[in-house]
Amino acid sequence: MPLKMHTAVVQQFGKPLELLEWDVPSPGAGQILVKTEACGVCHTDLHAAHGDWPVKPTLPFIPGHEAIGLVTAVGSGVTMVKEGDRVGVPWLYSACGHCEYCLTGWETVCAQAQFGGYTRNGGFAEYLLADPDYVAHIPTGLTAVDAAPLICAGITTYKGIKETEARPGEWIAISGAGGLGHLAIQYAKAMGLLVCAIDIDDGKLAHATRLGADFVINAKTGDPASAVKKATDGGAHGVLITAPSLIAFKQGVGMTRKRGTCVLVGLPPGEFPVPLFDVVANCITIRGSFVGSRQDMAEALAFAVGGKVKADTELQPLSSINQIFARLEHGDVPSRVVLDFATVNTRNQRSDVDERVATAGSKQGMVRATASDPAPSLHTGALIV
Ligand code: NAD
Ligand code: ZN
Ligand code: ZN
Repeated sequence: MPLKMHTAVVQQFGKPLELLEWDVPSPGAGQILVKTEACGVCHTDLHAAHGDWPVKPTLPFIPGHEAIGLVTAVGSGVTMVKEGDRVGVPWLYSACGHCEYCLTGWETVCAQAQFGGYTRNGGFAEYLLADPDYVAHIPTGLTAVDAAPLICAGITTYKGIKETEARPGEWIAISGAGGLGHLAIQYAKAMGLLVCAIDIDDGKLAHATRLGADFVINAKTGDPASAVKKATDGGAHGVLITAPSLIAFKQGVGMTRKRGTCVLVGLPPGEFPVPLFDVVANCITIRGSFVGSRQDMAEALAFAVGGKVKADTELQPLSSINQIFARLEHGDVPSRVVLDFATVNTRNQRSDVDERVATAGSKQGMVRATASDPAPSLHTGALIV
């Protein structure tokens, strides 16, 4: 087991991540150490690095919550996984297991929940600690790269579609056809729904059509709410808003059918106006949805094993993280970038990484503190989705 690992660290909000060498953490009682094989880059990582949300992570921290890897060490008392198992370390890093939400399959809103790559160090690193009771169990037959986007983008959209309560044969409108959206289209088709895809990029919409969308609309070229209402003869029964853009939220409510449900999963900072009369008079439900439970995770992964859902992935090394973030911010990532740690291991010899190692020493103690100390919960602040 090496003593040091390559990482990409947020040292300051809004600044480029730094490629640093930190100590490989060792698992305490009830923890496991995972050797990262692949980690997807989610728009949430960008929000985290920018400090976009009311409850911010403690600096410095390692983002990444779509990490897939092999269990390389287990702490005392661990029974749920063993060395060599392939697991995913998701956004829902851990929860209390005992509150009313944990007991009813809503562990995502547990007040004690910790979040991977946010309140706990994440997968933009060669190794990471995890809670064996909350890791995703990656079925044989799924590669690490294929599984990575599913443990955030996949579960979030699968759960979000269920939360719309749209039934087979009914319409769902999916706003944003990027990392989350391209998987949402596939889940929705596999669940027997008719799909309207909305984006502001014609390339993403062309891809949405290839993935099976029945109707696509570019929100930049017209009023997407009217276009969806026309195409669906009255509005979509379910609407899933993945776009990290406030205007998409108002538009999404406007394209919801009478008695339909508009599910919000995108998390741009800010607020959006709700047309109260329309929502009340049309009996529309507006509902937040936050990743999914461990049962939702198993179901979301099963769709991929069955071949009904497959993430489109672009492999990049960890050392490219700042270029990837810049592209994500400008909408230039076609679907999902996945950090490939087979590649990064060869790139780790780059001198620009090694030069920074010398400056990293003072932070190594802090990463240990971040990895093991209780951090404030998202749900104790204003961010209750
Ligand atoms: P992404 O950048 O891969 O995709 C976003 C897509 O939205 C892009 O295709 C972009 O062109 C499109 N878009 C931008 N503005 C738009 C508009 N006005 N109308 C329609 N489409 C528009 O991002 P992602 O990784 O899919 O994440 C999307 C959002 O979902 C982020 O805010 C992220 O934090 C959030 N998220 C939430 C959860 C949750 O549990 N609720 C989980 C994961 C991600
Ligand atoms: Zn995510
Ligand atoms: Zn709980």
